[in-house]
Amino acid sequence: MKRFVMILALVAGGLLAARAMWPRADERIRSPFRRRDLVAELARASIEWPPGARAQARDGDRAYRTAESRRFVRQVGLPPRSSATVLVPSLLAPPGSRYRFELGSATRFRSRFGLDGAEGAAPDTAFRFRVSATNRGRDEVLFTRVVSAGEQRAHGGWFELDVPLPKWVGPDATLELAVDVDTTPVSPAPAPVPVWGAPALFEPDDRRPRRPTVILVSIDTLRADATGPYGARGATPHIAALTADGVTFENAFSTSPWTTPSQLSLLTGLYPSGHGLNRAYGRNLSLAEPGLATLADRLSAAGYTTVAVASDHAVDPELGFDKGFHAFHNHVTQDMADLMPAVRGALDRLTGEPLFLFLHTYDPHAPLFRTAAGAPTRVGRLSVGFHYHTFIDLGPPTEAEVAFVRTLYADHVRYVDARIGELVALLKERGLYDEALIVLTSDHGEELFDRGHYGHGFELYEHQLHVPLIVKFPRGERFRARVDALTSLVDVVPSLLEYLGLEPGNVDGTSFLDVLRGRAEAHRDVAFAEALAWGPERKALRTKRFKYIRTFADAEVRALGLRNGTYDKLLDKTPGEELYFLEDDPGERIDVAALHPDLVARMRALLAAFCERETPQGAPRTRDPAWVAAMEALGYFGGD
Ligand SMILES: [Zn+2]
Repeated sequence: MKRFVMILALVAGGLLAARAMWPRADERIRSPFRRRDLVAELARASIEWPPGARAQARDGDRAYRTAESRRFVRQVGLPPRSSATVLVPSLLAPPGSRYRFELGSATRFRSRFGLDGAEGAAPDTAFRFRVSATNRGRDEVLFTRVVSAGEQRAHGGWFELDVPLPKWVGPDATLELAVDVDTTPVSPAPAPVPVWGAPALFEPDDRRPRRPTVILVSIDTLRADATGPYGARGATPHIAALTADGVTFENAFSTSPWTTPSQLSLLTGLYPSGHGLNRAYGRNLSLAEPGLATLADRLSAAGYTTVAVASDHAVDPELGFDKGFHAFHNHVTQDMADLMPAVRGALDRLTGEPLFLFLHTYDPHAPLFRTAAGAPTRVGRLSVGFHYHTFIDLGPPTEAEVAFVRTLYADHVRYVDARIGELVALLKERGLYDEALIVLTSDHGEELFDRGHYGHGFELYEHQLHVPLIVKFPRGERFRARVDALTSLVDVVPSLLEYLGLEPGNVDGTSFLDVLRGRAEAHRDVAFAEALAWGPERKALRTKRFKYIRTFADAEVRALGLRNGTYDKLLDKTPGEELYFLEDDPGERIDVAALHPDLVARMRALLAAFCERETPQGAPRTRDPAWVAAMEALGYFGGD
């Protein structure tokens, strides 16, 4: 009997090993490719630049990799006819320009193309795009197409091309991207600029196992305990279903209680003071620095196609969130359903290369407007669609009003959970689910009058920092199902990179894979949080057992010119220190700092050491007033 069991185990082990080698019997996966991002290969390209063509870079462009490439590359979003603008790192191609790249072992070429600035141009201004391959005197035109300014306007957004390369090309062959003026002379300025959007070569990739699809879903403003896996039983069946295939991190914490710094921690593995976007105003992101790599940069370099589908101004290209993405779909919506066409489009465009998709959805963020069928849309002084600042003028809410806010929040969470179910169904339908690495998390939680307020961005208590973190690995991985080790959002990037066999690079986080493999019980001793949207300046250290919060003097906040609008009137800003023992006091009601001066002193020293780390500091930069206005409309910085 024992022997029979052993044989069975061997057979099962063999099957598992086979699955790891060949994740799925899907056609595209059996013919894997890696993407070669030609914008990234610009330094090795031969470029003919038409004499007299003006310098094309604009302030704030982040697509360029080097000072030299800056002349040739710009982040371009061609005005769409409908839906969202898709921002793409693009090669500028004034007429007469030629870009030549080594073909290597590539078998396919794909690019977007179009005319930037067609809106103000004469409609018959037209350019010819041409792609050709050359090898030892042999020359073949693979693609040619004329686009006029009028056609660009009528079409809206990008044109796309996808061409197989001829069999006769070889390692010595070159690919040439050319643009010329068509028969009609170009009208005087403003002339549109022809562009090649995220041009790429695809070459066979025989790596085993194949790199998996990576999908990072950030549901904005989702507190952990609003979901099924974290105690709200039955609230989110689709998120709960994902935990059956993945690992649930019981103690995952955000680095900041508001969107921008926290989302960027998730994408860089750096704390807010590390990536530099830790202030609402006055200091720009250091993402433009070539040395600072995002997860998208790293995966692009590893042969991935990288796509972001984001849904609000707090995760905006204006801030550099587009860095490293071959396509950044820039929506403004509070409905994940609006994002799904872009997700489907990204899956449709795959040519057998691995995909990194960053999906940022905004559903449970205020204003809350979804109600269950037949439920009231007005309770007391509140009607659906109220925003965070509503409560400034309203004063303390009644019990019925609090219950109304919590019900609406739960309705929004249920809604986005159903959309997650659709996303999983779509991945299964495309044969991508089993081999995919899916991370589902949030950038921060939400206070639902736990301590008398509604919203986030102003405090470092658990309801604003404790987030869900569920990681579904490719099928066949036998990781633990639940881990209670302390984890921070900065750990996501190094963990994914380690899993994919890539170096973590310069990050604040550390990989949690050893904990998942059962090689370690504890992951980190302390999770750090900082960066408030509204002053005062607060920083926190969270251990498994307690929370230490330090509130700094208001002077620094004023000196930086921050506008403490919404919550300035509500919050206690007295500088000082707080300490909570979470096992006995999970609601952080009883501040025991005065009873434990030694522990407080240790935490103060630890925090001081943390703050003294050398951190990149971007140059102060004035924000685009339109962006600021949009952020205020979303409830950030608003008030007075
Ligand atoms: Zn957020």
